Amino acid sequence: MSAKNHEEPISNIVQRAQKAVHIWRQGVIQTGGALRPEKCKWYLINFKWRNGKYKYCDVSDDPAKIFLKNTNGEKCEIDRLDTKCGLKGLRVHISPEGNHDDLLDFFISTTPGKEGKIAKWTNSINSSSLKQHDVYVSAFHSIFKSVEYVLPATSMSDAECKKIDTMLHKTFLPRIGIIRTMSIAYRSAPSRYQGLGSLHTSSRQFILKTKNFLQHANSETQLGKSITNTLESLHLLMGINTPLFDLSYDDYGFLAETTWITNLWQKSSEYGLKISGSYVKPNIIRTGDFSLMEELVQSGMMTPAEMLSVNRCRIYLRAQNFSDIVTGDGLRIRTAFMEKSTHQIRSSYTWPFQPNPPLADWRQWKTAVSEIWNVNEQGILVAPLGAIKTRPHSLQDWYYSKSTKKLYHNLSLSELHISYIPMTDSTRDNRKFCYPSVVSSKPLDAEPAIVSDEQQHRPVLESLVPNLVIDHKSDSYEKQLFYSCVNMFTQGETMAQVIREGNAIAVCDASVKNNTGAASWVITDVTETVQINGDHGVPPSFSTMDSYRAELYGIYSILQVLSDLEKDYGIQQGSIHIVCDNINALNNSFTYSDRAPITASDYDILWAIFHIRQRLYTNITFEHVYGHRDKTKKTLTQLERLNVMMDKRAGLLRQRLETQTDYTFSHLHNMQQWTVSHNGNIITRNLEKNMTNLLFERKMFKHLIEKKKYHPDAPSMINWDAIERASKLLPKSRQLWVTKFASGFLPTALAMQGRGDWDDTKCPICQNVTETTNHILSCSDERASNIYRNRLKRFETWMLSVNTDPILVLIIVSSLKPKYPTSFYDPQFHYQSPTLTKASQSQDVIGWYPFFKGHISRQWMVAQREHLMNIGDAQAVAKADKWASQLVSQIYDFPYSLWEYRNSVLHAKVDDKLNAKESQKLFKSITKELAKGTQNLSRNDLPLVAIPIEALLQKSVSERKSWLLSVRAARECVIKNKNNSNLRMRHGLLTWMRTGSLRNSSLPDG
Ligand SMILES: [Zn+2]
Repeated sequence: MSAKNHEEPISNIVQRAQKAVHIWRQGVIQTGGALRPEKCKWYLINFKWRNGKYKYCDVSDDPAKIFLKNTNGEKCEIDRLDTKCGLKGLRVHISPEGNHDDLLDFFISTTPGKEGKIAKWTNSINSSSLKQHDVYVSAFHSIFKSVEYVLPATSMSDAECKKIDTMLHKTFLPRIGIIRTMSIAYRSAPSRYQGLGSLHTSSRQFILKTKNFLQHANSETQLGKSITNTLESLHLLMGINTPLFDLSYDDYGFLAETTWITNLWQKSSEYGLKISGSYVKPNIIRTGDFSLMEELVQSGMMTPAEMLSVNRCRIYLRAQNFSDIVTGDGLRIRTAFMEKSTHQIRSSYTWPFQPNPPLADWRQWKTAVSEIWNVNEQGILVAPLGAIKTRPHSLQDWYYSKSTKKLYHNLSLSELHISYIPMTDSTRDNRKFCYPSVVSSKPLDAEPAIVSDEQQHRPVLESLVPNLVIDHKSDSYEKQLFYSCVNMFTQGETMAQVIREGNAIAVCDASVKNNTGAASWVITDVTETVQINGDHGVPPSFSTMDSYRAELYGIYSILQVLSDLEKDYGIQQGSIHIVCDNINALNNSFTYSDRAPITASDYDILWAIFHIRQRLYTNITFEHVYGHRDKTKKTLTQLERLNVMMDKRAGLLRQRLETQTDYTFSHLHNMQQWTVSHNGNIITRNLEKNMTNLLFERKMFKHLIEKKKYHPDAPSMINWDAIERASKLLPKSRQLWVTKFASGFLPTALAMQGRGDWDDTKCPICQNVTETTNHILSCSDERASNIYRNRLKRFETWMLSVNTDPILVLIIVSSLKPKYPTSFYDPQFHYQSPTLTKASQSQDVIGWYPFFKGHISRQWMVAQREHLMNIGDAQAVAKADKWASQLVSQIYDFPYSLWEYRNSVLHAKVDDKLNAKESQKLFKSITKELAKGTQNLSRNDLPLVAIPIEALLQKSVSERKSWLLSVRAARECVIKNKNNSNLRMRHGLLTWMRTGSLRNSSLPDG
């Protein structure tokens, strides 16, 4: 329930709320239910203003109460919550003020008895004996999902998200065998970047919110309407005309209130992902006009605090653009707006509430007027404003009639006007008026006028307002582009008649190659005497072009033309038969009864199709034909023949597009909807996956360059596609191993020593050198070298077996052979193709050790593709892609087999003799247990410690270990029993104190 207007007193609103509660209770009772007062809560949201700024009121400011009768008819007060408190609704706690404190508590609180969800999960994992894999599954399928569930609704800050992430991983990582300190880049990166793919709350929140935003914005859903309202309010509040998401958050963020959308804008600005779409927003009114606040921010002459002062004055005055405070002739600023003013503009917009700001704010306003918006001391504009292009939002209610040459002023809603006649004594200036008189109505030809009424009863006509309204959703440019590809062979009217009579048929087909797509279509009838056709380049997207997208575009083009024919020729009914050889494109175009989900491939075109279908009068039937029927010997049907024709035309256009670089694609289909894009490429498929990859690409590249000292160009040379596909060939445990190896988090001797588990850092195989991740590959011990050589032999055999370019094999093998960093590029070697030279040089930029992490140059794949093409392989592209991913998984086998061997050496010693580190550790533990003597041992277990230490040390390692386990277990057992009996004792006493009887208690015997 909200106030009817700014003036409605709080007590009145509370009274209305109280009445509503009463009616609701009655209603619930009538339907056999009941309202329980103890389960009801309410908020009173009110603001107090000080120095032009608002604050939320608390209970002491408005001590209002609301009552509800319980089932016994007793009057109970309903619990009133402070606006800071979150109230749980649909499992999300967000306070009216927008803070997430209670939500965070709900997840991470560790207060005993009130543990948050994550704390509870952590405790249960800690006390369980689940295996690595089970912990992994539990995390990804239970607790991560619980957190994700709330994220589409929240706007948590990075710091808040980090709190959740830290708590989650504190237990999770060690339990799956990974050190807690693993960098976030590897902890949360997807498999494409060799990461663990674990939850990263902040980026997840952004992605899930973007999905919701795109799906609902510009739609009629509740959320869709709310998005439109918030966007419009933000534009007025911030005083901006440029679409919000096009502005940098760093520059303009301070002007905005924290909202669900502001948070989305902040993150999209930070991640470099562009959200764009069309919506109604304020615009400049005349030539030379500008948004007051954008001009202010760009001038860089004021601090954010000073600009906020100016903004408060601006909102109070309701001025959006410079033209709002300038006279109609465009020459000077209205005197009322030079400094502190109470003259609020009557505007057609619904403005945010703002009381008159304090004097300090007005001083900033005056500075802005004179120094930034270029007005001299007399209020004359340095650069006058030009022609008025659209009707302003300010409502003046002045009109001028050319027939009567009089000015008319409407003072109220009635038809009564005050008319003014031109002043006769003014010889030079005929724009001054005088002699007011009341008339019953204004003449029909009276048009809106901008008038200065600064002088009482002496209005001055400054300008007439042209009677046009700019269509803010203007798509004329895109439409022109689209229709430049359409041939109207006959007049539209003839075609319109064919459609009305239900005889129209339409056929489309597409051609796709090398990420380029073209679609051709024709609308005609059985006689083919009328024909409209078109050939379009299919707008590319972030994902690779395929025939599905191109065919969809063909169907869209037919519908777009059909819909325009309907509009132009007033078609009210009719039908058309649409034919296409892609069954999926046909089905998806015509079977969705609502907007396709954003998870659907090429949802941008599907949405455009749905949007047109919704307002189409013409009835559509559709049919699938088989393409390329010209290759059979049979006689073709008309539809098949048309399909073949379209196929040829699309093929021709596609060939032209492959070489033509300046082709401009029409984005007409995107005009009504929102999209997210990266470097100008709209993401139309696998939105979540692609966004995740893009976000972590930034993180991973930064990590590789800054932490792993990669060459700044190296990360973008790596074939991540191959790494991503290779990960799909690996079982989960091997993927985990790849993450540990690539991130440098394998438990090498150096790492073990760093954690305090080992005493020295020597390699377990050669016992000679510090064991680092790199040493695993270059250990000079003969046994390790043998394994490496074997591996290399098998690698070579594999490469030759899959048709690898023999010279490529030679280059790779010869640089891997020496077993230490060796250049891939050899200037002495003259037989390589330019591509192979590029490949080996770029691999040298990436590095020799990184090669074993699967960080291979994309150019190897290009070289292999060329080789396959040269030997006449028709599927060279697909095969080279597959080859590259297999190459990566073959490369992983080098470090993996060496690591396995190293572990076998380490563990082989355990049964006969321990290595020094382990032996020492065991000795320490044994002497410690013996020193404890008979403490906490039951009578039966006493012989365990009776054994002399010398005898014990004579025994085998496994016997010594089992002795240690037995003693420890025996002591633990006694300690546990003691605790239990203490507990039972206390419980029993409590029962006795309450009931006076010990009979039912569980006091231990005796
Ligand atoms: Zn070694």
